[in-house]
Amino acid sequence: MSVSPREDFAGVTLQRGLDQVADELRRADRFLLTTHENPDGDALGSLLAMHWVLEQLGKDSVMYMSPDEFPLSHEYRHMTFDGLLGAAPDDVDDRTVVFLDCGNIDRMPMDFLRREGMHILNVDHHHDNTRFGTVNLVVPEASCTAEIVFDLARELRAEITPRIAEALYVGLVTDTGRFMYENTTPTAHRMAADLIEVGVDTHRVYRRLFEDLPFRRLELLTRALQGVARYDEGSITMAMLTRSDYEQTGALETDSEGVVDHLRAVEQTKVAVLVRELLSDDRRGRRKVSLRATDGEVDVSLIARNLGGGGHRQAAGFTTELAPDELVTTLREQVATQLGAV
Ligand code: 5GP
Ligand code: MN
Repeated sequence: MSVSPREDFAGVTLQRGLDQVADELRRADRFLLTTHENPDGDALGSLLAMHWVLEQLGKDSVMYMSPDEFPLSHEYRHMTFDGLLGAAPDDVDDRTVVFLDCGNIDRMPMDFLRREGMHILNVDHHHDNTRFGTVNLVVPEASCTAEIVFDLARELRAEITPRIAEALYVGLVTDTGRFMYENTTPTAHRMAADLIEVGVDTHRVYRRLFEDLPFRRLELLTRALQGVARYDEGSITMAMLTRSDYEQTGALETDSEGVVDHLRAVEQTKVAVLVRELLSDDRRGRRKVSLRATDGEVDVSLIARNLGGGGHRQAAGFTTELAPDELVTTLREQVATQLGAV
């Protein structure tokens, strides 16, 4: 197959980035690995896989996530994070910090990782990554961060053990929407094939991730769907979940995972929106907004960035203090602007 000069250039640049980060990983001995708040399958899978690769290379690697992230969203309950830290280790200044799947340092709630002078490797696939690292390996063409970790692991000649393969597969299958989103490339499928050859039990992973759901999730979904609103000939399909929806179903914040996908699936929809009230006391009055686009017409990451968040072109989010009616007005304006309707 012929390769255009541009692809070739991108390929060379990518290889240089991989070499540089692989060198850093080879040279240093002590690491602290972390990811973004509200970690999803790619965040968690990349974190675990990188940790096990580094351990295999004889490195001292620790993982850090804020205790506020626990319990993790139900689908990830089988992932175990032995030795995970919930506070800064004493020697944090001597450790190389590796951020995985985190497009913006503001998505790391802990200040100790935001201090000047930290040596940070930023490994991610968000096109709007703010390049906050000392070294940035940002690969927007990668379907998931796990794909970049897989490349790094092979660069380091690590053995892809069954547990590393499964962690990477969790990142791959969740970030590609089970190999259905627009980021599902031949490379993503080849990676899946490689991981399955190592022994990933795809059906078992599927059951763990997407089925065996607590019934409260169905009840929360019911409430969200009961209140769906459509705007502008259905180009926006939106649902809201309130504090009382959570209280009355006994659902946790993470139980809204996947609700927005039901909205995206409705005819005419250009942008699907789920707005949910945040439950913790220190976030009272704030709402989390999840945005999904159905095709290339609207770039939801642009809308999210305008409102203080970020993400991918087809999946993005932000938190806001805007009241629901103001939020609706703002979103309608932003979508209309992109659709050229104003
Ligand atoms: P979700 O809607 O599932 O929470 O997030 C979808 C995607 O949007 C995430 O993978 C992430 O890339 C991005 N995202 C969600 N919330 C935020 C946010 O508050 N800030 C930024 N920068 N990105 C977000
Ligand atoms: Mn990701």
